[in-house]
Order: sequence, then structure tokens, then C-alpha cells
Amino acid sequence: MNKERKLIIAGNWKMNKTAAEALDLVRGLKLELANVKEVDIVVCPPFTALGAVSRDILDSNIRLGAQNMSENNVGAFTGEIAAGMLKEFSVRYVILGHSERRQYQKESDALISKKAQAVHAASLKPIVCVGETLAEREGGQTEKVLETQLRGSLAGLSKDQMVETIVAYEPVWAIGTGKTASTGQAELAHAFIRGVLAKMFDETIARRVRIQYGGSVKPSNARELMSQPDVDGALVGGASLEVRSFADIIRNSI
Ligand code: PEP
Repeated sequence: MNKERKLIIAGNWKMNKTAAEALDLVRGLKLELANVKEVDIVVCPPFTALGAVSRDILDSNIRLGAQNMSENNVGAFTGEIAAGMLKEFSVRYVILGHSERRQYQKESDALISKKAQAVHAASLKPIVCVGETLAEREGGQTEKVLETQLRGSLAGLSKDQMVETIVAYEPVWAIGTGKTASTGQAELAHAFIRGVLAKMFDETIARRVRIQYGGSVKPSNARELMSQPDVDGALVGGASLEVRSFADIIRNSI
């Protein structure tokens, strides 16, 4: 597939896989995907499996991501993980503001922007998630919600940092529900997001930022979604937990 930006496909394993199970999964992926050069492949295991996975993918084309990070560097923050700790495991990407964290941990755009700045200060790359709920979509609020989340979560980033930031458009109603946004709905939202980035930064920056789609991506819909001009990859939940389905999503996207 001829794309303006290199595709980036990341697996968000959420709170699944022990270290041993994670190792099994990533070993399978290494075998299946060894020859893939056209896509940046990222896996985001839980913190407790980062060490095992990190050692195993050293000489592979698979990169490591974390699912969250503290906005603080060190100190009395029980249960939190800092950038320096992630860097020990050669983590390159950090998912921020996933809708599950926005919902269950009440993460705000202001907090996500602090975390994004901390991620960049450590020379890591944030994957910043935005997306509307079903009620917001049905109420005609999608664009307003996306613009508010983008302006809040990306506040304070420089142009250089924005180019190294990935945005994930994840309509909340499509996450883990089996309902995928139609290719038309996805492309419209992605083009809108790129327009907001152009207003916040500039056209050139907006054209360089990669925008992933997330929400029930599977092998059967990956190709059509990835063929949209403003869709530059995928953030995959459920289907990233099996070697076959994650590998097929990547192969079908090329
Ligand atoms: C996600 O949680 O980021 C996600 C997109 O999940 P799923 O693919 O399972 O819908």
C-alpha cells in the first residue's frame, strides 16, 4: 500500500498476559513478522512483562510500548511508573489518555498534556488517544469533543515534539464492542483531527503526524481502514492478544 506516512500498528495488551504468556505471544509475532519492513510494529504489554518482552525483541523489528506513565520523574507516588524506569527496558512509545483511563481513572486532558510533556522530555513518543462516546456522536458532538481533547491533551507541545507524537482516534463506542467505525466515518474523523493539528501547529506538521485508528480492528477490516488517506495505522486491543490475528492485521495492511 502506498502511504504518505509510514504505517504504525500497535497492540495494546491492556491487563492481559503474565510475563510467560507475553513471551509466548511475542515469540510467535517475531517468527510471523520477521520480514515486515513497511510497518512500524509496536507491542504494549503490562508493566510486569516489559522486562521479559524487551530482552526477547532486542534484535527484531518489533518495538516496545507502555500503556501509561507518570507525569512525575521520581518520588512518593505509590503505584506509579516513571519515564526513567520505562527507558531501562528500551520502551519507545507510551499510550496516554486511553478511554479506559479517562473513564476509570478520571484522567483529564490537562493531566494527559503533562504526561505527554514528560514522555517527550525523556525522548519517548506518546500515543495520545482521543475519541467520542456513542452519546456524543449521536448528539452531533463528535468534532467538538475531538477538538477539545486534542487542544487539551496536546497543549504545551512544541512543533518538533508534535511531529514525534502519534494520535490515536478511538471512538469509545467501537472499543471492544465488535462495532468498527465505517471507513468513511474513520477517514472523516482523521481528516478533521489533521485539520485541528494544522490550526494548533501548522499544515506541514499536521501532514507529518501519524494518526492511528482504534476500535475493533481485525484482519477482515484492516486493509480497508488502512487504505484511507488519513489513516496511518492502528491501535489494536483484543485482536493483538493472538499471534495469528495481530500478524494478519499487519500483513493485510501492507
Ligand atoms: C483499544 O482498547 O485500544 C482497542 C482499540 O480495543 P479493541 O481493538 O479491542 O476494540
